[in-house]
Amino acid sequence: MRLTLETPVTYLTGVGPRRAELLKRLNIFTAGDLLWHIPHRYEDATTVRSINSLRIGDDATVIGTVISTGILPTKKGLRVFQAVVQDASGLIEVAWPGQPWLDRQIKKEDVLLLSGPVRFFHGRQLAPREFVNLGAGADGTTGGRVLSVYGATEGLSVKVIRGLIESHLDALLPLVEEYLPAPMLTAAGVPALREALAAVHRPASVAAALEGRSRLAFEELLFVHLLHRKARQLTRNARDGIRFVNKKALTARFREVLPFTLTKAQVRSIREIVADMCDATRMHRLLQGDVGTGKTVVALFAALLAMENDQQVAFMAPTELLAEQHARTIDRLLAPLGIVPVLLTGSRSAAERRLAATRMEGGEPCLVVGTHALVQVKTAFRALGLAIIDEQHRFGVDQRRALAERGMGPQKPDVLLMSATPIPRSLALTMYGDLDVSLLDERPPGRKPVTTAMRPESARAKVMAFIRAQVEAGRQAYIVYPLVEESEKIALTAATTACEELTSGPLAGLRLALLHGRMAADEKDEVMRRFRDGAIDVLVATTVIEVGIDVPNATVMVVEHPERFGLSQLHQLRGRVGRGAAESFCILLGDVGAEAAERLQVIVRSEDGFEIARADLAIRGMGDLFGERQSGVPTFRIADPLKDEALSDAARIAADRLVDEDPDLARPEHRRIKQVLRRGYGRALELFRVG
Ligand code: ADP
Ligand code: MG
Repeated sequence: MRLTLETPVTYLTGVGPRRAELLKRLNIFTAGDLLWHIPHRYEDATTVRSINSLRIGDDATVIGTVISTGILPTKKGLRVFQAVVQDASGLIEVAWPGQPWLDRQIKKEDVLLLSGPVRFFHGRQLAPREFVNLGAGADGTTGGRVLSVYGATEGLSVKVIRGLIESHLDALLPLVEEYLPAPMLTAAGVPALREALAAVHRPASVAAALEGRSRLAFEELLFVHLLHRKARQLTRNARDGIRFVNKKALTARFREVLPFTLTKAQVRSIREIVADMCDATRMHRLLQGDVGTGKTVVALFAALLAMENDQQVAFMAPTELLAEQHARTIDRLLAPLGIVPVLLTGSRSAAERRLAATRMEGGEPCLVVGTHALVQVKTAFRALGLAIIDEQHRFGVDQRRALAERGMGPQKPDVLLMSATPIPRSLALTMYGDLDVSLLDERPPGRKPVTTAMRPESARAKVMAFIRAQVEAGRQAYIVYPLVEESEKIALTAATTACEELTSGPLAGLRLALLHGRMAADEKDEVMRRFRDGAIDVLVATTVIEVGIDVPNATVMVVEHPERFGLSQLHQLRGRVGRGAAESFCILLGDVGAEAAERLQVIVRSEDGFEIARADLAIRGMGDLFGERQSGVPTFRIADPLKDEALSDAARIAADRLVDEDPDLARPEHRRIKQVLRRGYGRALELFRVG
């Protein structure tokens, strides 16, 4: 059989059914996938230090063979996995506190690549921030060569993967053909494809490897930019919208009755939104602002502008609690104008839902606040002029589109998306392309910072005593448990047990209640209502409280197993406190590994959502930023839109030039580009059309 890039890996020498199964976990199905499985890191003689040369206080990378392992208990009851590692120059002790399970992953004779600080502990000890098990008997030196570190998986070591790629590389490379025009590559300063693939797998130097990688990253970025150009073309056609008139009737009155002064950022965002809405094209704008920056008020200005133009407004939130909270806030804020929002959620009574339906179908200006029930009910709006989507990333692209299509007739509403997850500008561009962004980069005055601290397990009693003291001072607290393995059921057990233990132990006498995702919506509401009204002192919860809940009297947020949360998630949780006048605290409780502790430092140090999101991205990759992948959003395997900003600019210029010269990619030399765009990005393209 002739080898092609599409040949399944099972047909390759060295790959049996078992290995093929393991390779699937790395998304390697074909020979081509194997070729595109590129190293995520390189080490060479200039980066790898000899063990003998390490000094206390250094932060270094070493490669060595494991000569012994063991698990030691510490005084604090923490179990430490230890290994002694040796290279030609000497030995060093390596310690992983709190990770006894490594005993199953690291064996004698294994060759490890280790990076981390060297500290003093009965002598020199390396505390790895990260490590790669290269496999037993792997070439333990870089021998002046560059060592490629590949993504591996359990049962398939870096050594095996490197061996597989090495043995097939010469056969596979000739099958690769460049299809990007040479002038484009020259302009971007990147090598041709075959050369690039050879360089990433078999680099002469780290610099050469990175140059090769830049070609592959450039390609990914190029397609995302092409996609956006294409989407812009499509949406421009489909973007005839309502031309609202800034009558300054409701909006001006709202401004007069607002109990506070708008921040500069709010004023600016409102101006941008009004300009969009009064324009003939449909608004498609993302209002982005950290927790507490006051997005709701800004959205209300948009809603009022629509209503004074006799249009209806749909305002969708991801949970019942949030929808109700919004309805309540909006009710309060708009009461002086005599406007009462309509609430539409799954748990409303039949009578209430009928009422909502009557209003929607009636076509009179109104503001309907709801959950995804808004897109599930049969009823449509007679005159939907504006769709507002809060916490937009919690909805699938399809749901967002469905809301925008809730109106009767051909009229398309303007769309305002809101998000509290700050996305760096370069990433927002690659994710949303044709989307305007308004940024609330300023908090309303008078907010105090939240004091954040990490506390070990041994300080648990003190933390509980602190909660008690705060409650006695009239405040309230949250204790949050993570979802374990995405399983609400296990988290529930943990939280339930904890709640019982707290009630009979350290928090006896306080009013505790449990809140979790498996409770019926009305039960959840009941608990939240009681917490809001001060009838509950301590809310023990799984992460269902993550978004948007506003209880100003709550001043303590204790997070259990903080290492299981993403930084952005923790930041959202912390945003639940510090909403009132009193000083607030966020305590990350429990013993975490060295690596996690370092990561969590970002939260302790910073309250800047952007900085936190950027750190989250750097550490966990962009797929994890939202806790789950947004369907249809193109993701990058090789490029990193944050780090590759210059390359991304080059790709944008190349994409623009290409489309300007050949808008339909009709020329024969662009045929492959067109094919790849269609095949690889078809769904994303379809979604961008409306998204
Ligand atoms: P976000 O949704 O952006 O996290 P909210 O819209 O819930 O923030 O606003 C948080 C709180 O701040 C609300 O109680 C809101 O009424 C209040 N708020 C909004 N804007 C201002 C302002 N300019 N000055 C004072 N308080 C404000
Ligand atoms: Mg909000």
